[in-house]
Amino acid sequence: MELTLPDLQEKLKSWKGCQLAEHSNPVLGEGNPNSEIMFIGEAPGKREDELGRPFVGPAGKFLDELLQSIGFKREDVYISNVVKYRPPGNRDPTDEEKAQCMPWLKMEISLIKPKVIVPLGRHALGHFLTKLSITTAHGKPQKITDDITVFPIYHPAAALHNGNLRQSLLDDFAALKEFLDSQK
Ligand code: URA
Repeated sequence: MELTLPDLQEKLKSWKGCQLAEHSNPVLGEGNPNSEIMFIGEAPGKREDELGRPFVGPAGKFLDELLQSIGFKREDVYISNVVKYRPPGNRDPTDEEKAQCMPWLKMEISLIKPKVIVPLGRHALGHFLTKLSITTAHGKPQKITDDITVFPIYHPAAALHNGNLRQSLLDDFAALKEFLDSQK
């Protein structure tokens, strides 16, 4: 029998396959299990670790705003991360940590079966398209299988550090909406 998202949530709690689990709390994805679109970030931050939920800190507030800008609520979509535990001090996750956590993301994708995957930032993009850089690939749809298109966008946290990226993110979300509408 296929595992459900609540099964994954439960199993992740006792998983010890990544050393980050020794000092932080598990954060699986959340949202609409029937969503055709899935957003994937890098790794939980401080607030996410405290609440056990993805994108609930400052970057999450901006992601909510970006979703609203195209008429979505976060409950409409599914939101997850490549790495399921917070790296200390919010450092970048290592290649090893990303590889260790990969089976969880794969299981989430196979349960949600999204038609469009939006990697937010370079770590998530690298999971799907290793040769592309976020600087050149953002805002452009890439069909990776018959069923799935990847639509890379900068990580919302990047705009919190670099105000110029704010408009780029808003533009990419507008382009994403146009792309989704064109697929109907
Ligand atoms: N940044 C991420 O990549 N993921 C989160 O859940 C929060 C901040």
